[in-house]
Amino acid sequence: MREAAERLGLTAERPPLAISFAPEPGAAPGPGLPLADAEEDNLHGVGRRTCRLCGECDLGCNDGAKNSLDHTCLSAARRHGADRRTGHEVRAVRALARGGYAVDYVRHEPDEEEGLESRTLHSISCDRLVLAAGTCPV
Ligand code: SF4
Repeated sequence: MREAAERLGLTAERPPLAISFAPEPGAAPGPGLPLADAEEDNLHGVGRRTCRLCGECDLGCNDGAKNSLDHTCLSAARRHGADRRTGHEVRAVRALARGGYAVDYVRHEPDEEEGLESRTLHSISCDRLVLAAGTCPV
C-alpha cells in the first residue's frame, strides 16, 4: 500500500490500532507474548497474548490481543462491582418524577420459545443513567 501510494504521489499512514503488539507499553513488540495484565483483570479470566498477525480479526481475536470492549470497559466495570446482565432487552426508559430513571426490560432465556410479548416486564431504577449502546462511556 505504501509503495502504491508513493507511485501515485500520495502518502500512506498506519492507522492507530487498538491491538497489543507488545506485552506492555514501551516494551519491545513480539508475536504471542503474554500480556502483562493478570488473568483476573479481564472478565473472561483467560490470559491474553500479543498479536500473532494471524489475520483472524474479522471473526474476533482468540488471543485477546484486540483491546475490545470486553477487555477494556466491561472488565473494568466488573472490577468495580458493576452488575452486568446479558440476555436482557430494554423495552423502555422512563424519567421518574422524584428524579432518576426507571428502565423496563425483559429477560431472554436461552431455552424459552415464547414470544417477547408474553415475557414478564421487569423494572430497575437509578439516579444516573448512561446509554452507551456497545460503546465505552468513559
Ligand atoms: S486475530 Fe490475530 S491478527 Fe487479529 S489481533 Fe488477534 S492475534 Fe492479531
